[in-house]
Amino acid sequence: MNLPLENTRDLGLATRSIHCGEGVDAETKAIRRPIVLANSFELNSTSETLPESFAWDNTHKFNYPRSRHPNARYLEERLAGMEGGEDCVVFASGIAAVSGMFFTFLSAGDHLISSRICYIGVHGFLVEHLGKRFGVQVSLVNTDHPDEVRAALRPNTKMIHIETPANPTTHLSDIAAIASIAKQAGVLLSVDSTFSGMVTQKPLELGADLVVHSLTKYVNGHGDAMGGAVIGGKDLMTRIRDAASIYLGGTISAFNAWLLMRSAVTLPMRMERHCENGLQIARFLEAHPKVKFVRYPGLESHPQHAIAHKQMSGFGGMINFALLGTPADCFKFLAALKIITHAVCLGHAESLVQYYPQQGNHPELGVLNYPEDIGEGFMRLSVGLEDAADLTADLAQALAAC
Ligand SMILES: *Cc1c(COP(=O)(O)O)cnc(C)c1O
Repeated sequence: MNLPLENTRDLGLATRSIHCGEGVDAETKAIRRPIVLANSFELNSTSETLPESFAWDNTHKFNYPRSRHPNARYLEERLAGMEGGEDCVVFASGIAAVSGMFFTFLSAGDHLISSRICYIGVHGFLVEHLGKRFGVQVSLVNTDHPDEVRAALRPNTKMIHIETPANPTTHLSDIAAIASIAKQAGVLLSVDSTFSGMVTQKPLELGADLVVHSLTKYVNGHGDAMGGAVIGGKDLMTRIRDAASIYLGGTISAFNAWLLMRSAVTLPMRMERHCENGLQIARFLEAHPKVKFVRYPGLESHPQHAIAHKQMSGFGGMINFALLGTPADCFKFLAALKIITHAVCLGHAESLVQYYPQQGNHPELGVLNYPEDIGEGFMRLSVGLEDAADLTADLAQALAAC
């Protein structure tokens, strides 16, 4: 079978995650897409048909893989179908997707409003590069409060970028409220929805123009491939292809696109489990005497629990908490963990925790500087798919050891 994207709107998410972009190979009748490694494609050879070989709207014509290749295209169809957008452009990483999007829509002299707390690599790109080197005015705003977004608008504002839930603090931004501000002002709204794993919130339905994901996280989920995606209207996607795909060249490899396509099949099921485990672990940590605080959108104690309920259908597997005690205690805790690994990244089948010490081995903290959010003992926990009882037992024994 081959499901054209426009016919998938009424299907459930699980069906879309399995069927969008899938199809029977015309030559071999294989029911799985092959991995196509060619780095050149035959062009049409008449004056009437040659332009077709280079037309972006001709989604299954390829010329040179930096612009687009078959495995990237299959993945784009799957992700557009899952996120509910007209089209999608995939990249080699989440940062390639985010920087490609800003490269496409912002010019020197334009103004961008962004969430104050966002992924460290996005934060650094905005402040150190777009802002300081390329003449884009960047306002970092507390987008927890839509009024602060409205107040930051300038006549030259071109875009608002929010990250919700934010990495690493799980701060939330009210997508619908900020979308209506963006619409009124005639500016684009992009939402980094990585923590939702494409399952627990639908920014396009809430009025966003662009959704970005690091596919390296929940979409991959197996800890073995990087990727990024921007999803939105066809015209916006064509502009991204015309600019970023051609001139930045952050092209995903055919193999990684294939791995992500395969991973996406189980994403809705995996997210359900991440949500179940996330809530259990958050409740366990909140009740523990050695834990200073826990922030998880699904806990009543999360300062924005009401917004979480309004715009999310589940609360995912990302938790932050802080340990009471000294940095030495924190390192003891990390060393004592047996199932949970101290590592960067998130959204994997296995649980990962990252410690953000105030001093020492995280030079990026100097850039971040969120003193009111990240105090001593701050940990970001990505709750995996293991049995929740094993995870709580692991945390309990490591907490006892510190
Ligand atoms: C990881 C991450 C990114 C960057 O993605 P990469 O795939 O690591 O390049 C962007 N945004 C968020 C919220 C992330 O967690």
